[in-house]
Amino acid sequence: MKVVIIGAGVVGVTTAYYLARSGHEVTVVEKETEAATLASAGNAGLIAPGHSFAWASPSAPKELLRSLTVDDTALRVNPFKAPGMMFWGLRFLRECNAERATKNTLVKLRLAQYSQRMLDQIAADEHIDYDDIHEGILYLYRNAKRFESGIEKMKLVQEHGQKQDVLDADGVVEAEPFLAPVKDKLAGAIYGVTDSSGDSVKFTRGVQAVCERMGSTFLLGKGVTKLSASGGKVRSATLQGGESLAADVFVLSAGVHSPKIARTVGVRLPIAPAKGYSATFPIKTNDGPQMRIGAVDEELLVAWCRIGDRLRMTSSAEFTGYETTYDDHDLRLIRKLASDLLPEAAEYDKGTYRACNRPMTPDGPPILGQAGPDNFYINSGHGHMGFTMACGSSRIVADLIDGKKPEIPVEGLMLTSRP
Ligand SMILES: Cc1cc2nc3c(=O)[nH]c(=O)nc-3n(C[C@H](O)[C@H](O)[C@H](O)COP(=O)(O)OP(=O)(O)OC[C@H]3O[C@@H](n4cnc5c(N)ncnc54)[C@H](O)[C@@H]3O)c2cc1C
Repeated sequence: MKVVIIGAGVVGVTTAYYLARSGHEVTVVEKETEAATLASAGNAGLIAPGHSFAWASPSAPKELLRSLTVDDTALRVNPFKAPGMMFWGLRFLRECNAERATKNTLVKLRLAQYSQRMLDQIAADEHIDYDDIHEGILYLYRNAKRFESGIEKMKLVQEHGQKQDVLDADGVVEAEPFLAPVKDKLAGAIYGVTDSSGDSVKFTRGVQAVCERMGSTFLLGKGVTKLSASGGKVRSATLQGGESLAADVFVLSAGVHSPKIARTVGVRLPIAPAKGYSATFPIKTNDGPQMRIGAVDEELLVAWCRIGDRLRMTSSAEFTGYETTYDDHDLRLIRKLASDLLPEAAEYDKGTYRACNRPMTPDGPPILGQAGPDNFYINSGHGHMGFTMACGSSRIVADLIDGKKPEIPVEGLMLTSRP
């Protein structure tokens, strides 16, 4: 079959991979001039099923409310900049109870665990080097009381197959000797032993090259302006400049821009942008221990990992519309983390920065599978975990297109099975 995929982030490109592998004639249309330039370029590089917790939790409304008056929250909303978010916001609030948060977390966890296996398999089968590190991820706590509640919270994912160890400050330093100089600042960590990290741009472009070798076409620098449907099927995608592309199947994986494309064929996707900040610094070389393990500071909610000879750090989740501007003040959490815990890790005067938008659904899991017209498939809304969940999602969508039963249950992932 002829398949058109809209968007060449990590999600679109891995979808192309599975469809090309099963023999389809694949064309990927991407509005930027290269693959993986938006969210897939700015992420923290963590492949972290152990961090599958849904953002819509009982504590989220209080955190969002607090962000209206104070400056130090990682989760923030600006109602003046995100006025179109009313409907999405109400759905998010509806998910903020313990029962739904648990259910949504487990849907994400199952997908993330499957996806990590698929990612490892693609990398091994196709010999893709993406500066991957398979030494776990540290979820670090600085405050004893928060550490206690972190231990309680993490039991949920442990009970569902995540191998995690509870480490005191000595244990943290044993796992990551690089943190020895700041040991006194740490209460401890949950060590997600099987979590990993890597460069999502390198991975995506590696998979793109494999797709091209299998005969897929990448139309870069060409945005889709609308889809046209008739007789219950999408017939064509119109590109900037007026060119039109026909296909048997269309897959939408345009990240935060998916909703406006879906609307042209009458499908409403509850996906909203949550802006985050991303900084990359050259690693400082010295004779001491080298940083290996990616981590999340559970206090500031800053995440980081080593990507080759660079340190990537990310922070914040702000509901402020589609803009991706930033100023020095926006980087304050990253700077604070760097000076608190990683003062000697990198050449902080040589940073490059960006802001990008996570495609968030109100409940947390991405939206996968057919929606609206018969031949229209969605693979979008992966939120804060799209690198982790991309390969599994793409395999599921490819299996659905091929009429095969996905290898894991799709309950909670299809648009039709959502509340
Ligand atoms: C600060 C930050 C930190 C993160 N950290 C992590 C992490 O550590 N681990 C993790 O798993 N995830 C993380 N994520 C999330 C992850 O990066 C995203 O979920 C993932 O990249 C989404 O991939 P995507 O392909 O759906 O979207 P994108 O990468 O945004 O790709 C969508 C593509 O669609 C294209 N497009 C849009 N409109 C059109 C159009 N009209 N026509 C054609 N093409 C179009 C865009 O140009 C873009 O290339 C993080 C995200 C952010 C922002």
